[in-house]
Amino acid sequence: MMEKLSAKEFDANFLAITENIKNAAKKSGRSADDIILLAATKTVDVDTINYAIGKGISYIGENKVQELLSKDDGVIGAHRHFIGHLQTNKVKDIISRVEMIESVDSLKLAKEISKQAEKCGKFMEILIEVNIGGEESKWGFVPENTLEAIEEITKLPNIKIKGLMAIPPVCENSEENRNYFRKMYKLFIDIRDKNIDNSSMDILSMGMSDDYKIAIEEGANLIRLGTALFGRRIYKI
Ligand SMILES: *Cc1c(COP(=O)(O)O)cnc(C)c1O
Repeated sequence: MMEKLSAKEFDANFLAITENIKNAAKKSGRSADDIILLAATKTVDVDTINYAIGKGISYIGENKVQELLSKDDGVIGAHRHFIGHLQTNKVKDIISRVEMIESVDSLKLAKEISKQAEKCGKFMEILIEVNIGGEESKWGFVPENTLEAIEEITKLPNIKIKGLMAIPPVCENSEENRNYFRKMYKLFIDIRDKNIDNSSMDILSMGMSDDYKIAIEEGANLIRLGTALFGRRIYKI
C-alpha cells in the first residue's frame, strides 16, 4: 500500500531524479546514459507501474516472489529484475519471468537457479549480493568470500554473472555510506581485473532513495529507487 500518488507527483519526482543522476554521473566522469535507473515497485500497483513505464522507466524490480507473480501479467514492457532474498524453492516460480536476479546470496541458490534455467533452456543473468557492512542481519557474501564464491558460481552451466549488488547498513546520515560504496567499487574493480571466465563485471547495483547520488559518485551504474519515485510506503515491506 502507498499513499495515493498523483501522476503529477510522479512526473516531478522522475524529473528531479533524472537531473540528480545526470549531476552525480558527471561528478564521477560519466554521463546519465551510463546509469540504469531501476524502479523498485514493491507496494506499487500495476496501473502506477505501467504509468511509470509509459513515462520512460525501463527497468523494474520486485523483492517478493508472491508480489511479483501477482503483478507480472498486468505489467506491460520493461526489463524485470528480482531484487529481494529468494528462497531456493521459489526459484522455479520466477525463472521464466525475470531477466536478472540481483540478489544471489548463496551457492545453494545459484545452483538452483542454474538448474531451473537449464530446464527452460535459458541462461539466467545474476548479480552476486555482497554484505558490505558485514551485518549479521543481512544476506549476501562477506567481501572476503566474494571472489571465491564467484569462482564457484561461474562454473554452473546456465548462469551468467554480470556484476555485484549491495545494500549497505542503514545510516542516519547517507554520507556515512560513502565508505561502503567505495569499498564495493574497489571490490568490483579488483574482481573485474581478474577476468574470470564466463563472468563479467558490468553492473554495480547499489544506491537507494536516500543515497543514490552518493552511490553514483562512487561508481554505481544501477540504482534501485522506490520511495524517491513513488512516495513513501505506508507499510514497510
Ligand atoms: C525497496 C527496495 C529498494 C528501494 O528502496 P527505497 O529506499 O524505497 O528507494 C531498493 N532495493 C531493494 C532490494 C529493495 O527491496
